Amino acid sequence: MRKYVGKGVYGAIAIGKASIFKRQEVSVRRNRITDTQNEISRFENAKTISLTQLEKIHDKALREVGESNAQIFEIHMMMIEDDDYNESVKNIIETQLVNAEYAVAVTSDNFAEMFRSTEDSYMQARAADVKDISNRIIKNMVSEKSETNEISEKTIVCADDLAPSETVLLDKEKVMAFVTSAGSSNSHTAILARNMNIPAVIGAGTEFLSSLKDGEKLIVDGYTGEIFVEPDEKTETEMVAKKKADEEKKKLLQELKGKENVTIDGKKINIFANIGGVENIGSVLLNDAGGIGLFRSEFLYLENENFPTEEQQFSAYKKVIESMAGKTVIIRTLDIGADKQVDYFGLEKEENPALGMRAIRICLTRPEIFKTQLRALYRASVYGKLGIMFPMITSVSEVERIIDICGTVKNELKNENIDYSDEIELGIMIETPAAAIISDRLAPLVDFFSIGTNDLTQYTLACDRQNSKIEEFCDTHHEAVLRLIEMSAQNAHKNGTWIGICGELAADTTLTETFMRMGIDELSVSPSYVLKVRDTVRKLDLSK
Ligand code: PEP
Ligand code: MG
Repeated sequence: MRKYVGKGVYGAIAIGKASIFKRQEVSVRRNRITDTQNEISRFENAKTISLTQLEKIHDKALREVGESNAQIFEIHMMMIEDDDYNESVKNIIETQLVNAEYAVAVTSDNFAEMFRSTEDSYMQARAADVKDISNRIIKNMVSEKSETNEISEKTIVCADDLAPSETVLLDKEKVMAFVTSAGSSNSHTAILARNMNIPAVIGAGTEFLSSLKDGEKLIVDGYTGEIFVEPDEKTETEMVAKKKADEEKKKLLQELKGKENVTIDGKKINIFANIGGVENIGSVLLNDAGGIGLFRSEFLYLENENFPTEEQQFSAYKKVIESMAGKTVIIRTLDIGADKQVDYFGLEKEENPALGMRAIRICLTRPEIFKTQLRALYRASVYGKLGIMFPMITSVSEVERIIDICGTVKNELKNENIDYSDEIELGIMIETPAAAIISDRLAPLVDFFSIGTNDLTQYTLACDRQNSKIEEFCDTHHEAVLRLIEMSAQNAHKNGTWIGICGELAADTTLTETFMRMGIDELSVSPSYVLKVRDTVRKLDLSK
């Protein structure tokens, strides 16, 4: 038996035969040419064929893995049309008098290198994309057919790395798992594997692939990232049992799809999902969440090198709202500061950033940033059911100022004849002890509360959430935190305000009963926890 460990990107186990992915490599030679115009036309021609192929791949991806994942191929189409990319190819042909294939290959290497040398792991992962489109163009110039990766039986596909288009073109029915020797968890291939619900391990190392033979028996554990080649009897018995238990658990949970979140005695609760970006929508839908209880919009800011424009934000919010097709989507305004630092905000270094200039404090001191986000949110509101939520509230006056600014934004939009919905709900996070204690004063001002237990616990127990050394002092079930939640629930309901929980504690099923007895109306959890919490709710009997 040989054992390797990579990074598991989709939790599931597969047992089957290895099939080494055979790529039709084209070797590119440098030829001197005289007719540069002819080479440029060959390049243009291959681009047109590539765009048609990508459109087909995009459609297949759209059917199989959803809109947000299919977008990769829109990006590929855009990359093919990119001015810098095209100029580089043409320049190389014209100045070096070389064949188009060679010019594309050199451009591809240069661009990939440029992406790889950035600090940003997302940009680094784009190197694979530029290679993918360039290989496609080159293949189309030498007119090799490369559009199918025939697999005759169900196997575990093993490759050095898989390009997104190669991943999508694989026959999903026949791929039991993916293992790649290279690759990053940020790569689109990893994202696709996750969304195709296929067990996958990436970064298994070069030795894994170099010593592997086609047809060897493999066990792939997408939870731990372990790969066993030609497993011994003991390992195989253990893994077969683990796979069976895993499948039974998942089957049971999947049977809960479409079912209500209702206790035996008929009490209902909403179970929503927390997301960090548009790319998480697939798993929200897959896990049948009733809505989005927290969209951490700051990720839009964290991913960017400058303030995201109103248009950029509008398009992201619109996409999320539209994909939820009328279900509630709660978008939290930016929560920058403390552990989420962004250079371009130019925030001063602070002794205690968790107690410093963060979240709503930034928005209220720099209203131009806040108003841009609010304009984008209000504009997107016409595409579904939007809730806007404000983080780190500690006082009544903050909420009054926020409502004032929302009024100004609405007036501006009205004057510009831009539509927004009248049904938007405004809510605040209860994540400071101050907000919980004055929740009786805050509740009449807003439509909903959402308890951020991560920060509420940190501030109540004086335990830095970033500091793993003090975990033993940070009792997440501490009576003080639970009392603050209960107090907020009572004050919310007295004022006709609904209340949810969106911190990690919402997914702690040992507390589901406590929360329901407190009258919590909504629990918002990571998408993969939705069905587990539903399962817990359906087994409760609150009449006892
Ligand atoms: C929280 O504090 O519980 C919360 C949901 O917000 P974040 O984890 O983003 O601070
Ligand atoms: Mg928080």
